[in-house]
Amino acid sequence: MSRMPSQDGTARNGLHHVTAFSGAAARNRDFYTRILGLRLVKRTVNFDDPGTHHLYYGDAAGNPGTILTFFPVAHAAPGRVGIGETQETAFRVPRASIGWWTHRFVETGVTHDAPTPVFGEPVLRFRDPDGMMLALVGVAAAETQSDPAWTDGTVPAEHAIRGFHGVTLLLREAGPTAAILTDVFGFHEAGREDLATRYAGGAEAGGFVTLRAVGEFPRGRQGAGSVHHIAFRAADDAAQAAMVERLTGPHGLAVTEQRDRQYFRSVYFREPGGVLFEIATDGPGFAVDETAENLGRALKLPAFLEPHRARIEDRLPELA
Ligand code: ZN
Repeated sequence: MSRMPSQDGTARNGLHHVTAFSGAAARNRDFYTRILGLRLVKRTVNFDDPGTHHLYYGDAAGNPGTILTFFPVAHAAPGRVGIGETQETAFRVPRASIGWWTHRFVETGVTHDAPTPVFGEPVLRFRDPDGMMLALVGVAAAETQSDPAWTDGTVPAEHAIRGFHGVTLLLREAGPTAAILTDVFGFHEAGREDLATRYAGGAEAGGFVTLRAVGEFPRGRQGAGSVHHIAFRAADDAAQAAMVERLTGPHGLAVTEQRDRQYFRSVYFREPGGVLFEIATDGPGFAVDETAENLGRALKLPAFLEPHRARIEDRLPELA
């Protein structure tokens, strides 16, 4: 089930998903489901490299704005964040839950900092087992949002993660990237703090992108814990095509052909600041090849890989 575009004309622009590299698949799955309490909503393979898992975590349905995905590679070298990359990926939790989460991280041995205010909200920064930079942002509105929080009992529903808050991109300068956010994705400037400028798209989950302009700074090295790309939402193919037209026309950027990712349809482009961006359609969503109750339980393959299932299952590392 995917969220319908709003009927009242209110902007619902925001992130669709974030995709990163990780180390061993089982350790990644344990951290995101058992420590953070996200739902594994899809277990598939990298369509471009079927020897590697592609794991999707999100809310109960894997709604756009809640989906963090990984390509796990055992013994992958760690990445190092640099310019032209996503520096931090932040989730939203109820504001009153920040204390509960701090306690949980202490108890479970998760590397974290003391909560600090950022743009007026308490932020609890932490790292996953691969060193990926993450944060929980305490949002007052998260307590009263319409979608019920996913819980399997690991994290009580009242404290559960409610999708993304947003991402922070590390850039040399903010202007060229900001132009894409405002002109193509319908975001608007929502605040400045030190080197950071925040842009808001209006979506409840994943509605914020913060640009951190640091001037000359080393480039990163992609590896375990690095974000590979971030995807923005398009309500449907027509909305995606309109965005592509803005990108290739006024902004003069090169964009890939549309690719069928089974659960959404995607185009990719390198934004002027160096970050790989994707535009993904809200539909058809994750219940297209298994029931909503059984999401994430079985290895799912697209039709073109199904004939090779036995060999693929043989090569994939154990996840159970
Ligand atoms: Zn993607």
